[in-house]
Amino acid sequence: MPSKQSNKAIFLDRDGVINVDVGYVAAVDDFKFIDGVIEALIKAKQKGYLLVVITNQSGIARGYFSKEHFLTLTQWMDWSLADRGVDLDGIYYCPHHETKGIGDYKLACNCRKPKPGMLLDAIGELGIDVTQSILIGDKISDLQAGITAGVKSNYLVRTGKEITEEGRALATAVFDDLASIIDML
Ligand SMILES: [Mg+2]
Ligand SMILES: [Zn+2]
Repeated sequence: MPSKQSNKAIFLDRDGVINVDVGYVAAVDDFKFIDGVIEALIKAKQKGYLLVVITNQSGIARGYFSKEHFLTLTQWMDWSLADRGVDLDGIYYCPHHETKGIGDYKLACNCRKPKPGMLLDAIGELGIDVTQSILIGDKISDLQAGITAGVKSNYLVRTGKEITEEGRALATAVFDDLASIIDML
């Protein structure tokens, strides 16, 4: 069914953007919202953006944690945000890894960033206009997925992985954190 691609959205990486990246975060106890993120997401909703989380979760492929474990944490995150007035519009994750995956998870999929598969699914399912939308990530693979999907602005934040020269060159701009980006929208 053709959908009107009229919604503007913010595509959000999870680790290093929403929560502190301590590496393969899989338990509620390890999940800490970065300061100011929830307040910023409230503002983003007020500014009319859909909020769509796009996250690579190769910890599932590698057998570090189960898909059920991930989904339990995701539900907790979703409820924690909803409790504060932030309803996420979509959460997309890739459980695969091309070389390190175990069993069915060893797959050269189209969803693992830098591939744009998760974004393309969201764009179709949520009627997103990429020319009005932005992506916020902490790694070059986040930016590459956004650029390939046609997202207008692809930003890096300094709250996650260290910013590389390559990342700086590819990013529309680099900001201290998610809140700084929402403030200027
Ligand atoms: Mg990240
Ligand atoms: Zn995948």
